[in-house]
Amino acid sequence: MITAPRVHIVFSIGAIIVVILGVGVLSMLSGAASERIATVFLISLIAVTGMGIYSGNSGILSFGHLSFMAIGAYAASLLTVPARMKSATLPNLPDWLAATELSLLSAVVIAVVFAGFVALLIGLAIGRLEGSAATIATLCLLIIVHGVIIGWRDVTRGAQTFFGVPRETTIWVAAAGCIVALILARMYRDSKSGLRLRAGRENAIAARAIGINIRRERLYAWVLSAAVMALSGALMAHFLGAFSPKKFFFVDTFFLLAMLIVGGMTTITGAFTGAASITVVTEVLRRLEGGFDLGALQIPPIFGTTQIGIGLIILIAMFRKADGLAGLKEWEERVFAKKAKTPALSGAAAATAVSADSPTLDARNITRRFGGLTALDNVSIRVAPGEIAGLIGPNGSGKTTLLNILSGVLAPDAGTIMRGDRDMSAIAPHAITSFGIARTFQNIRLFPTLSVYQNVLVAAISANQSKDAERRVQFALGRLELTDLAQKDAGTLSYGDQRRVEIARALACGPSLLFLDEPAAGMNREETDRLMQTLRALRDELGIGVLLVDHDMALINQLCDRMVVLNEGRLIAEGTPAEIRKNPLVIEAYIGRTNRGKIESPVPLHGA
Ligand code: ADP
Ligand code: MG
Repeated sequence: MITAPRVHIVFSIGAIIVVILGVGVLSMLSGAASERIATVFLISLIAVTGMGIYSGNSGILSFGHLSFMAIGAYAASLLTVPARMKSATLPNLPDWLAATELSLLSAVVIAVVFAGFVALLIGLAIGRLEGSAATIATLCLLIIVHGVIIGWRDVTRGAQTFFGVPRETTIWVAAAGCIVALILARMYRDSKSGLRLRAGRENAIAARAIGINIRRERLYAWVLSAAVMALSGALMAHFLGAFSPKKFFFVDTFFLLAMLIVGGMTTITGAFTGAASITVVTEVLRRLEGGFDLGALQIPPIFGTTQIGIGLIILIAMFRKADGLAGLKEWEERVFAKKAKTPALSGAAAATAVSADSPTLDARNITRRFGGLTALDNVSIRVAPGEIAGLIGPNGSGKTTLLNILSGVLAPDAGTIMRGDRDMSAIAPHAITSFGIARTFQNIRLFPTLSVYQNVLVAAISANQSKDAERRVQFALGRLELTDLAQKDAGTLSYGDQRRVEIARALACGPSLLFLDEPAAGMNREETDRLMQTLRALRDELGIGVLLVDHDMALINQLCDRMVVLNEGRLIAEGTPAEIRKNPLVIEAYIGRTNRGKIESPVPLHGA
């Protein structure tokens, strides 16, 4: 399923075909030299697009992608080089490979599948790493694959030039490959998997809380991007006719990364912008590199002008626009942004009620330490189906930590958590939605560069495999009064609106139990009152239970059937709001903290 409006995809694919064919025609008309430059440009564009599929969507920069280009180049070439040539240059090849002589198309397909398979094996290992460790691992991959190519002389000719490859990559072959790669990348970006991966890039903790298995989505992107790199490598080999392992090492990694970073790695628009601008600049600098006359002044040849120039351009681009020249949106997303409308809430959009026998949440004897600090000390808490329970306590008393443990973000050091008769004490963070639980965060965790609609949609398609995702999205947007803001980027909204998007996103998961961590912080009185009505309606109409942390006592008092009070990690009281107000331990906990006898006002936005 494609998650973007159809018009975006249609215009994008149309533009890709027109522009790439346009590049082909123009370069053919302007002579053999331009045709060569344009062919290399198109092959590079395939590679940049391939790198972007992984790095752009996952947010992890990769230095290792040229290894897949190398694998594609060698694998495809071994299949196309004529048998008599192979018997001369590679006498020790296995017989079946020595005798194989395939067409370019079949060789490319096999090389691409092979590279995808290798990437799958490598990805299973590298996928366990996060952030900069993952990037370093990709660098190691580049060096390892380079080493293997150099060492595996019988098949690769080692460090020597691999030659005799049929030069079958014409400008039109490159254009065809480019169109395929760009369309694949564009479709992936707005596929379910692409949207989930982008959500994970924007906020990993929130992505897991709506059921996204980030590691798995990364692996899909990794394999697809490796396959596209292999396509680029195979075409490059059949363009050059001869190449050595150097071709797929640091220098070209640098140039392709330059294209990726300067253009902007998260979009196809960025890949094109980056590849085009770096190609133009490289051509200009390369001419200057040989030395030239400036009037009376003779500039001597300066070796390395091109690299230095490109390095400076990356620096300038990153200072001026960290997201690259094209930014974070596709051109068609900008052009159509104003006209896009969210489908109106139809009559069918009412959500189904949560079944009356949704299980009780029962946490017993939960303890959690952070170093020497015991943030939670033997706390037990129950939330009955359809109940709105309040969780209060002074700052730092462990409320957020408790929600983090109950939602699988943190593991308890001791204690058990049951939902009905299912044990959820040691689940992976992304498994929480399968227990019918969704949550919001004290410090807002949206996917800021995705639209409000996409924020909610990605939850609906990830948390719950049932087919009614679109209906849950419409219901959640309607209920939280966000329909008018649906096309805005979530990160641009006011705090109050952002909190409502978080609740809508949680609601779209189709939960029977909601955890809300200070949902009214940053809201004015009127917004808070509306939130109160919404929560009450969700409970009354759908039977959704709520565990609510807030400092707004008016909200808590009016909404909650029952309250639990934490102080310094210990549960000190439990009861109806009226009982709690009279409880001496509670009064002391608050007076002891504030010396003013009243409950603290909303706290700054911190904590998980
Ligand atoms: P509350 O939400 O009630 O204000 P928290 O649960 O955020 O309280 O914090 C409880 C205590 O645990 C605080 O002292 C806090 O500093 C500490 N704490 C919370 N999360 C972490 C963490 N990830 N690492 C270390 N200490 C933490
Ligand atoms: Mg907190």
